[in-house]
Amino acid sequence: MDKYNILVIGGGPAAITIAKTVQGKMSVGIIRPENHSMIYCAMPYVIEGLLPFEKTLKKDAIVTEAKASLIRDTVSKVNFDAKTVTTVKNVEISYDKLVIATGATPILPPIPGRNLDGVMTFKTEKDLQKIMGLVNSGLKKAVVVGAGAIGIELAQALNERMVETHLVDMADYILPNMVDYEIVEETQESLIKSGINLHLKSKVTSLGGTDKVEEVLLENTQIIHFDQMDHCSEAGAAALPGLVVFAVGMKPNLELFAGTDLKIEQDGIVVDNKLATNIKCVYAAGDCCQFTSGITGKIVSGKLATNAVPMARVLANNFLGGNRAYPGFFNGTATKIGDFYIGGTGFSENTAGKHFDIEVGYAEFTTAFPIMPGTTKVRLKLIADRKTHRIIGGQFVSGKPVTDKVDKITMAIQYGITLEQLINFSYSAQPYQSFYPAHNLIVKAAENILNKINS
Ligand SMILES: Cc1cc2nc3c(=O)[nH]c(=O)nc-3n(C[C@H](O)[C@H](O)[C@H](O)COP(=O)(O)OP(=O)(O)OC[C@H]3O[C@@H](n4cnc5c(N)ncnc54)[C@H](O)[C@@H]3O)c2cc1C
Repeated sequence: MDKYNILVIGGGPAAITIAKTVQGKMSVGIIRPENHSMIYCAMPYVIEGLLPFEKTLKKDAIVTEAKASLIRDTVSKVNFDAKTVTTVKNVEISYDKLVIATGATPILPPIPGRNLDGVMTFKTEKDLQKIMGLVNSGLKKAVVVGAGAIGIELAQALNERMVETHLVDMADYILPNMVDYEIVEETQESLIKSGINLHLKSKVTSLGGTDKVEEVLLENTQIIHFDQMDHCSEAGAAALPGLVVFAVGMKPNLELFAGTDLKIEQDGIVVDNKLATNIKCVYAAGDCCQFTSGITGKIVSGKLATNAVPMARVLANNFLGGNRAYPGFFNGTATKIGDFYIGGTGFSENTAGKHFDIEVGYAEFTTAFPIMPGTTKVRLKLIADRKTHRIIGGQFVSGKPVTDKVDKITMAIQYGITLEQLINFSYSAQPYQSFYPAHNLIVKAAENILNKINS
């Protein structure tokens, strides 16, 4: 029986990070069912035609060159007492330390019609191939359910490929978990202008059809019909099903542990800040875990690669003798909608208001000196706690990328920076890369909040 110092179940970003960090200083086995690990974030851009499919496949060398063993298999049973796992190929493998990094699967809501042909979620290589196959065969119409970043990126890709695209969400504006309405108002209009049919305040209640999905029924009695078969000119296109893709959230992959003593709650495996589970020598990292907000210490969802990788880094460094602790989710995220880059971190005004007595501030400048060519607007909404003056959220919209700006606000939130500290924040300026030295977006927004609090 093979034995590893560290055996990882899963082959996603969390597992890869363990292998890359340990670098052969301990023996690492990575058990993964897929032929390839995927760059999930890039999948919409393959559908859009910006990237060839092969670019989304990660090379196995990332793992093997880090001197870890890659085992193509699926774990079907874990024996925590014997410290072994058994795979579907009936191989038994033994471990000193087990890392569960089984990730999460997109949710397909339990509504009538969910099993019809053409109804799917969007995560795997197979999902990507299926959607690309349909689009390349002349798909005429698609419905994407969920106007979060993944749903919007997919909807834009389909729209770019001349598929009549309907984007449906229960919320009254897009990206409701990332930003507040005022930050996306203009962007939402641009999404509609691009040709996407946006159905807000609309819950999908059921899907109709005999074998293939033929219609999507919304709570407000509206029905989206897949009538493209009548108008299709391409040979064979009449046989195409409609396409309904749900991008409405993720649930952790934990069926493997049913009936075991592993402590699992609603959002995943319960771990402490060293990523240890309740079972000796068993750890977990990434989307399969439940964790707490770095702001409130209360459980918050954070199924992001930018949470999975740092969790795994903490764990792997501790295996090598370190004593790091995972600080919690801050959930900095970003997306691109048409010509707009949008990003948010910490809590939105809506969410922050449930935990804190908040004040918000705004600033709007340009991404370069206004006299320079190619300058666009950048707007910040900053959210702070009136009592402690600490920053608890920030949101950007701009014509230029915003992730670096989002990360700056995350740093302020994470390290307890106050408004008084931010107004003295020392910044840089250059004609192509910032507003005039005369002002800075973060300083201005912080001043705006302080003025409101003090007035
Ligand atoms: C379309 C899309 C776009 C995204 N965009 C972004 C983005 O822009 N930014 C961002 O931060 N995040 C993004 N994410 C989220 C990000 O991909 C996930 O948070 C990340 O992949 C989680 O990593 P993980 O290693 O925890 O799990 P996963 O990547 O889900 O990997 C889990 C692995 O475990 C394996 N596994 C499960 N069960 C078993 C078993 N029994 N035996 C063996 N192996 C098993 C799976 O097959 C898989 O290989 C996106 C996700 C999607 C789907």
